[in-house]
Amino acid sequence: MEQQAVGSGSGVGLDSQTVLHGLFGDPVKHSKSPLMHNRAFRELGLNAAYAAFHVDPGRLKAAVEGIRAMGFRGVNVTIPHKVEVMDYLDEIDEHALAIGAVNTIVNEDGRLIGYNTDGIGYVRSLREEAGLSVQGKRVLMLGAGGAARGVAYALAREGAETMWIANRTADKAVQLADSLGSLTDTRAIGYDDLAAIRGDVDLIVHNTSVGMHPNVDEVLIDTSWFHEGLTVSDLVYNPLETRLLREAKARGAHAHDGLGMFIYQGVYAFEYWTGRQAPVAVMREVVEASLRA
Ligand code: NAP
Repeated sequence: MEQQAVGSGSGVGLDSQTVLHGLFGDPVKHSKSPLMHNRAFRELGLNAAYAAFHVDPGRLKAAVEGIRAMGFRGVNVTIPHKVEVMDYLDEIDEHALAIGAVNTIVNEDGRLIGYNTDGIGYVRSLREEAGLSVQGKRVLMLGAGGAARGVAYALAREGAETMWIANRTADKAVQLADSLGSLTDTRAIGYDDLAAIRGDVDLIVHNTSVGMHPNVDEVLIDTSWFHEGLTVSDLVYNPLETRLLREAKARGAHAHDGLGMFIYQGVYAFEYWTGRQAPVAVMREVVEASLRA
């Protein structure tokens, strides 16, 4: 379903025709998604709006029912609801099902369909911003939480040759590695055993919250072995340059920050909802400006 443009892009007010979108999470106050999507709607002159809704655990089912009841076109889902929400949808895309989490809901005439745009958003960001094709690469994944699941699945599907997964809670690394075994060669590894694979790694993806604001002086692993030819990618985007990335750059490695993943997961969601090509540049511009403010 393609949404109709109603203006030149100079600004559209809310009225009785406005097509509604939202974000369900806890917390949501920090989210840049409303800023990004409303800027994109305005750029394309769409009579649509996006707001953030704080949905407490225990009220998610009612909130999802509200999408149907009030005819929202689309919703993003964030922490802590990405897994539970799957119970309340009518259909789940095969990739979201394999990942085990939904971050985007599309309402097709009352039928709610769940997608996961985190992993594909990440891979597109890696390709477009770091110029890196995943095909044949050997990847070290740090962390095995919700974000890592989507990213690991997308990397495996894009043709990563080998993936080592390290996580503080070792069981979760083993589970994630096992779940991807049919797609590529995937192994769990301990943080204490990284020395054994250092020479083999092409890409490191940091998927934990270590180094995120306000703990900006933290770094998860020893970076003294980082070198030219290695790409270090951090899902954290607040701050844009984490200590991990700063140290990677200092050692001549290529550094890739987490902002692109955030932008492109939103780009894919926007395109599912509107059927229009998302205005990527303005979406990025408005989020970057807000992070720097
Ligand atoms: P999550 O499901 O809660 O997972 C958190 C991960 O971080 C787990 O692997 C956890 O290990 C690990 N971790 C947390 N504190 C740690 C510590 N002190 N030492 C070692 N490991 C630690 O969260 P998530 O949704 O995956 O998010 C992870 C990070 O990705 C966050 O920084 C988030 O902001 C970022 N993210 C970015 C984007 C983007 O668009 N760029 C999207 C989603 C998430 P355990 O399993 O042992 O607890």
